[in-house]
Amino acid sequence: MMKTKIALAVLLTTFALAPASAAKEKKAKPAAGKVVKAAAGKSAKAGKAAKAPKAKAGKSAPKAEEAPAPVAAAVASGPAERSSDRRMDYNSMQFLTAQWRLDPEGAIRAGKYDGAASLTIPNAATRAHRIAFTDEWLKKFAKFDPRALSDKQRTDLALLINKLKADRWHLTTLREHEWNPALYNIAEPIDLILTTEYAAKPQRLRTLLKRLANVPAYYQAAQASIVNPTHEHTQLAIAQAPGTITVLADLGKAAQESILTQQEKAIFAQRIANAGTALLRYIDFLDALDKSQQQKQSARPFRIGKELYEAKFGHDIQAAGSAEQTYQKALAAREELLVRMDGLADQLWTKTMGGAAKPQDRTRKIGMVIDKLSANHVARENFFPEIRRQIAVLQDFVVKNNLLTLDPKRPLEVRETPLYQRGIAGASIDAPGPYRPQDRTFYNVTPLDALTAQDAESTLREYNHWILQILNIHEAVPGHYAQLVYANKSPSLVKSLFGNGAMVEGWAVYAERMMLEAGYGDNSPEMWLMYSKWNLRVVTNTILDYSVHVNGMTQAQAMDLLVRQAFQTNAEASEKWRRVQLSSVQLTSYFSGYSEIMELREQRKQALGPKFALKEFHEQFLGYGNAPVKVIRELMQ
Ligand code: ZN
Ligand code: ZN
Repeated sequence: MMKTKIALAVLLTTFALAPASAAKEKKAKPAAGKVVKAAAGKSAKAGKAAKAPKAKAGKSAPKAEEAPAPVAAAVASGPAERSSDRRMDYNSMQFLTAQWRLDPEGAIRAGKYDGAASLTIPNAATRAHRIAFTDEWLKKFAKFDPRALSDKQRTDLALLINKLKADRWHLTTLREHEWNPALYNIAEPIDLILTTEYAAKPQRLRTLLKRLANVPAYYQAAQASIVNPTHEHTQLAIAQAPGTITVLADLGKAAQESILTQQEKAIFAQRIANAGTALLRYIDFLDALDKSQQQKQSARPFRIGKELYEAKFGHDIQAAGSAEQTYQKALAAREELLVRMDGLADQLWTKTMGGAAKPQDRTRKIGMVIDKLSANHVARENFFPEIRRQIAVLQDFVVKNNLLTLDPKRPLEVRETPLYQRGIAGASIDAPGPYRPQDRTFYNVTPLDALTAQDAESTLREYNHWILQILNIHEAVPGHYAQLVYANKSPSLVKSLFGNGAMVEGWAVYAERMMLEAGYGDNSPEMWLMYSKWNLRVVTNTILDYSVHVNGMTQAQAMDLLVRQAFQTNAEASEKWRRVQLSSVQLTSYFSGYSEIMELREQRKQALGPKFALKEFHEQFLGYGNAPVKVIRELMQ
């Protein structure tokens, strides 16, 4: 709170009180941080605004790192094309146009800026309108017979119907707008409009000037929508306020330094001040509400409970089984991993621990060997060059071992994460949004320069010799990046925008195991042990999420599950505990997708016998785009 008020005071004195003088100090802005960014669902990247993890609604759309970029809109043609396919294409395009008109913020995230000047007021009328919209389009799409459609159209139809039903359920049943104050945040679209070069800067600033006019109404509607928030989401909203103030300050500065007229600059300064004041009023309201709720112990619990959990899992993950079945599968997978790790630790004991006494306790023994092996890592200055070197090695391995055809015409560009995107550690694929296919795909790696010696060592031990290779398999080849290239081969805007996150994450997790099975890492016990630790994280995410939201697992139990039983650092485990309080279901997507792909592969092996070929299976599987695994399974029969 303090920080926010000081920041606002600075903001007001700098821009509202002296707009003319600010315009004169025209400092040359450094080029860094002006990189175009546009990706579907890039909600975790409000730059400076989103240091804290956002309580994302966890819709099924893939995250930024996975959003593919089709080359063209889904207007297929050809003599054999059925009329029902053409009708479906037409309806999809009509739907998208209507959808972006209804949701300009979603459009901005997808890289479409036509409606960027209007800020949606999050009030009851808007929500009623959106519910009516889902009903209207569900009715339209219900008229299609899936059996009369091609595979591509049929999967598009399934995704659209699911998206509409999910939207409806989120609005009418989950009702997050009543209990998650962090949903109301104006920063991300402002940041995207300001930093994405989709148009000349003065034009983008004028768009923002219009957008700012309604910010006070926005926060009034937000306040009126809150009914009984959770303490955790209230705290998140309060913690994110200084980030929003920073975005407003950056915008104010950009406006004053621009070629806008003096009059425009004066209005700009006034609107920014009004926006800041409205935000602070909202934060004051939350602060007071939180205090009284804490006193009365009346806050809504952050655990969503079994009923909502199952329903949310159904909408967001779209697995063949239930959440509870997936949880049970994860428990079994966990035990299998630990048995295997136990054997590997025995195998490696003398090599790593010499004559040290071996503990009876399985978990302790495995932990000691992992700890010892983690000392094997690259030097901090070699972190970035080593990743770049490995990508070529991985590509070679995939091609030589007949695992997947790779497209050499679209090489992946490894680069240091742009400054404005840093804050989330590690590495990620940064793909352009579906409306900006001309932008390149990058593999962002955050260098360790900014870390203290101790933090760098901790990160390097985490991404040690073996895990670093597994990370590259997951993010790049044959994980997310390779999947993306395949998804682009059958371009579908619908699948890019509303694709299934569990399939996308599941593929990357599957790729790790598949590479090791094919002999990557020479089947060394060290590689398998580190892989198992990495895979255990994915399995544990599912167990944690279900246990916390459905079974009431406490913080102490969660920390024990993560640190002692899954060999994670305290820092990683604390971050995970925070995430599980602010989100639900999303943490299960990795394991859910992975286990379904493994099952599907075994089924195909059984069905095809000696005719089964791994490469064909992979290419056929990826050829359907970002559809749920259960839908792909039907199409593969
Ligand atoms: Zn070290
Ligand atoms: Zn991933």
